[in-house]
Amino acid sequence: MRSHSDTPEVRSCQPALPERETESDFLPEEFRRFATDPASVTSRIAAQFGVSAESVINWRWHMRRQVGDGASAAKVLSLAASESEGFNVLKDAFVAGITPYYMGLMNPDPSVSCPIRLQALPRREELDVRHGVMDPLDEVPHSPVKEVVQVYPDRVAFCVAQLCPVYCRYCFRKRRDEEDGLHFNRRIVDNGIAYIASNPAIRDVLVTGGDPFIASDGALENLLERLRAIPHVDIIRFGTRTPVTLPYRVTAKLAQMIAKFHPVWVNTHFNCAEELTPEAVQAVRNLVDAGIPVGNQSVLLRDVNDSRDRMMPLLRGLLKARVRPYYLFHPHLVEGTEHLRVPIDDGLKLMKSLRGNITGLGIPTYIVDTPSGKVPMMPNHVLGRDGEDLLLEDVRGQIWREKASLRP
Ligand code: SF4
Repeated sequence: MRSHSDTPEVRSCQPALPERETESDFLPEEFRRFATDPASVTSRIAAQFGVSAESVINWRWHMRRQVGDGASAAKVLSLAASESEGFNVLKDAFVAGITPYYMGLMNPDPSVSCPIRLQALPRREELDVRHGVMDPLDEVPHSPVKEVVQVYPDRVAFCVAQLCPVYCRYCFRKRRDEEDGLHFNRRIVDNGIAYIASNPAIRDVLVTGGDPFIASDGALENLLERLRAIPHVDIIRFGTRTPVTLPYRVTAKLAQMIAKFHPVWVNTHFNCAEELTPEAVQAVRNLVDAGIPVGNQSVLLRDVNDSRDRMMPLLRGLLKARVRPYYLFHPHLVEGTEHLRVPIDDGLKLMKSLRGNITGLGIPTYIVDTPSGKVPMMPNHVLGRDGEDLLLEDVRGQIWREKASLRP
């Protein structure tokens, strides 16, 4: 089982590095202004953890100092009873791991409902398992080779990473926590590349995990070179939560390296507006300025983003940061996550409440993910037919008759 103590080993299980990491990888110029601004999130975290602000903009420091037990968490934050108990009772199930950065976003008052705490701190409610399963998408039977998940003929999810800056309590790949040594494992990477290379129908590779940006620039460049060398791979996509949970990792240098392998797309995973800090926006800016389109996938979670009042600031903030809201996933039926679930009818009502209040560019597609593919869920605006007319309900609840069968 991986734990926060795995993180110093990140380099040892990666492919050979084509270049050495330099100071600019750890003290990136574009994040230094946060270290010198006493009002920044960065400076607040430095004070909270008793380190220099320069340490805070070094992403490796966060991986070394991931908070993984109740005693460490209690040193920097007051814990509610269910959170303290969660750390104790879940340490052999799905262990915690939280970057100091993400800890620093939590509301210090444990009696206040905090969307950051809900996503990252273990809670005793996770033990209430009635319906949840460990592999809700049947990814294991859909893997022709280990860690390559294929549901559609033209694309695969290539799970090269195991480590994450924060282990989200609702993660649908919790099952991978039970196995050691998956992070940039040389054999898994070699076999995955060989499978993709031998299947010309695969045009789209989603590099994911875990979080694939938890690797050196050199390891990522090596992987990108190998994927780009496969002639039938049209696009490469990354799924990463680092802009949200460890923004200092997304340096301009990393983005420029990735841009050498275009077309490359990045999907990140903001769930609430509290995550859109200036540091997170800088991480996104580094990607977008390098010409990398950035989309966002959220998971619909109780008390995190399940109301219009919580969702709208997130969507508006994403657009301002030049991130396209792409998917809103209905939560997967993962073991230990039932306290975070939202009924589908509530999700549909939420989707209906967005239309007309924000540009369509800012409205994600609401998705129920199934083992055989994604099912888009749409609020129903079609009320029925009246003769040749289709009766449509507009965003203000007024009925519109559309002459539906007219032809030239
Ligand atoms: S960052 Fe993604 S892969 Fe990692 S724990 Fe969170 S949801 Fe799971």
